[in-house]
Amino acid sequence: MAMRLLIYIILGYLIYRMVRTWALSRNQQKVHKTDTQPLQADDVMIQDPQCGIYFARRDGVSLTHEGRTLYFCSESCKEKFLEKHTHN
Ligand SMILES: [Zn+2]
Repeated sequence: MAMRLLIYIILGYLIYRMVRTWALSRNQQKVHKTDTQPLQADDVMIQDPQCGIYFARRDGVSLTHEGRTLYFCSESCKEKFLEKHTHN
């Protein structure tokens, strides 16, 4: 009788462990997914330093200025920015 009870307890514990591990791995996958999404950096919204509008970085025009990479919404904003920052 005591042996049988022990087997039930062990079985119950194993099932509990399996469900717990499954639930935990599901949670971790969820967290992992939401964590990696903002890191797809091409879609990130940034501000044009010239006209102030927000746009997706992959749609912008890049410029390396004084060692920094800047992004503009269009070529004309980039040119205006350069005009403002190149004449002394
Ligand atoms: Zn602009």
